[in-house]
Order: sequence, then structure tokens, then C-alpha cells
Amino acid sequence: MSVVVSVEGLSVGFWRGRPRTLVPVVRDVSLTIHTGDIVCLLGQSGSGKSVTALSLLGMVPWEPGILSGRVVYEMNGERISLYEGIEAGRGDLLDGRAPRSARRWRRQVEERASRVRGKLAHYVFQNAQTSLNPFWTVGAILERHLRRGGRAGPDVLREAARGLERVGLPPDTAGQYPFELSGGSAKRVTIACAAAAEPPLVIADEPTTGVDPRLRLEILALFRELCRPPRATLLISHGVGLFQDLVSHICVMYAGQIVEAGPRGDVLGPGGPRHPYTRSLLLAELGVRERSAPVALAVEAGCAYRPSCAVCATLPDALQRRCREPQPPLAVDQSLVRCWWAAEHGPSEGGIA
Ligand code: SF4
Repeated sequence: MSVVVSVEGLSVGFWRGRPRTLVPVVRDVSLTIHTGDIVCLLGQSGSGKSVTALSLLGMVPWEPGILSGRVVYEMNGERISLYEGIEAGRGDLLDGRAPRSARRWRRQVEERASRVRGKLAHYVFQNAQTSLNPFWTVGAILERHLRRGGRAGPDVLREAARGLERVGLPPDTAGQYPFELSGGSAKRVTIACAAAAEPPLVIADEPTTGVDPRLRLEILALFRELCRPPRATLLISHGVGLFQDLVSHICVMYAGQIVEAGPRGDVLGPGGPRHPYTRSLLLAELGVRERSAPVALAVEAGCAYRPSCAVCATLPDALQRRCREPQPPLAVDQSLVRCWWAAEHGPSEGGIA
């Protein structure tokens, strides 16, 4: 399996409030996605998973106070590094304005990202209807995605019709505008767009959120088709339940960090999960436990999960001190876990799957 994209030490932060405070949203995130991988980026709202995913396509919202790290695509001998070597605007961005150097920074990122978007990676947004251009018909939108994927000539229109058929939409949908579609049809169109360009990587943000249960199963079936290897997929989700048998790897985010990452069998199987937050998140999804505590945005020194951690609460004072130290990801079996006590204290309640 070859590497599609590698993320190394990605950190993103934004200025918030008065007086302005720099809030880290993504902190030192590293992950590698290979061909055929289906990686689930799992976490509560505000954990940093969407900003991480948007950063993979250079779509970080305007005015980041911090943006460091590397996002590198490697496909068919081509290497595109989104942020490397274009940090000239960083110092100016720190005051939260958009001076000329910040605009230059944005232009440079856009230039590189445009070589990735729709060709090497495609983003399926959570809100399908607003992600489609309202001034274009569905046919024109699909045609554009096909052309970005390298299709040309008279076959493009036939391909667009076939794309609609594959997602269960009638051919006359091609003449409709996005506002004329139901929520479910708009979802289907976004999946058809992702399939049309045949990108090596699909990033899907909560693909089954906001649809009724019957439609959810249909969208899930289409999504399974879309994610077939060798295509790689990054799936952003609050829960893993619906996708449990689909995903190959799970990365759990809390307060902007990946706190646990590993193959599905390690995280959900009899040996896992290892991190107390992952355990609490998955048990909450099963209804066994109350919802996990909200994500701590003001990150103290040491482990961000400490105020809510059930394991920490049971440790003697001498050992709890360790939880106040910054902890690197530790290797436990095939997983990486950001908890000092992952090997000693987990799992305490068996596997989840
Ligand atoms: S390092 Fe300590 S506080 Fe953090 S998750 Fe592990 S046991 Fe809990």
C-alpha cells in the first residue's frame, strides 16, 4: 500500500474573544493515510476533527493565528506539500488581521491546494445542499467534477447521466438546481460528484447526519461503494457505530489532539480501547454511560482530559502528578495512545465491538 497523504505535526489556532486570546484548535496532529485505508476521525463537536480535515485541502478558515506542520500528498510520482516553506505570513497573522503578507500566504496555499482539490482529494461536506453551487444545474456541477478528474469530450455528459443513475437519481435531475432538490437527493448528488472525479482520497464529513433512518441506510450503501479500495477515505464522525465494519483505522480526537489511533481491531477489539476518553465516548454511543464531558478548550499543562478522567481519579496522588506532564503518544500494541497509564490501566471494561 502506498501513502496517499501524510500529516505531520499539524497545529491550527484562531484568535477568539476580547481581549483576543489564541485558542489552539488542532494540536500536533500526525497521521498517514494509505491507499485502501478507511480512517475514521472520531470525536465530539469541537474536538478539532473538521478543522483537521479542512486543513488537508488547504481550506483552513481565514485568519489562522497558528498554522504549522506539513500536509503532503504523494500520488503517481507527484508530491504536493500544502504549507511547507510558505510561512512568511505567520508572524503577521498572529495579530488577527489580514495584511498583505497574509493574503500572499493564502494565495500560495490556494495555488497548491487547487492541484489537490477534486483531483487527489475530494471533500464531501456535511451540509450537502449548501455545498452545491446554487447557480449551476446538477448536470453542470457533475460535468465540472468529471472534467477536474481528467474526463473530456462528448462522453462527459453521458458519464454525468450514468453518475446520477448510480446514486439512484433519475436522469432529469441533471436539469435541476440544488435548491430544487430534497436533502436526500442533494446528499446523493454530492456522492455522485465525489465518485465522478475518481480521486484517490475522499474526505467525508458526517455523511449520514441529518437524514432519516431509511435514507441513512441507502446513503450508507452508496458510501460503501464510494469507499471501495484502492480509494482511501477519511471519515469524520461523532460515532463509529454505523461504520464499524467499514473502517480500517480509528483516530480519536480530544481537545485538538489525537489521543488514540490504531487499527479498528486494536481500538474496538478485546484489547481496546486504551484511552479513557475513547472508552467513555464509545460507551456513551452504546448508551452504557452518560455522554462524555465536553471538550476542554482551555488546555492546561499536561493531559487535557485530566479534569474528566475516571482513571486519573482512581490513581494515588504520586501517580496523578504524571498526568500533569505533557504526554507524547505512547505505542501500545499497534496503537498510539496519549495516556501515561494506557498500558497499565486499560482496558478496564473489555472491547467495544
Ligand atoms: S494521562 Fe492521566 S488524565 Fe490523561 S487520560 Fe491518562 S490517566 Fe487520564
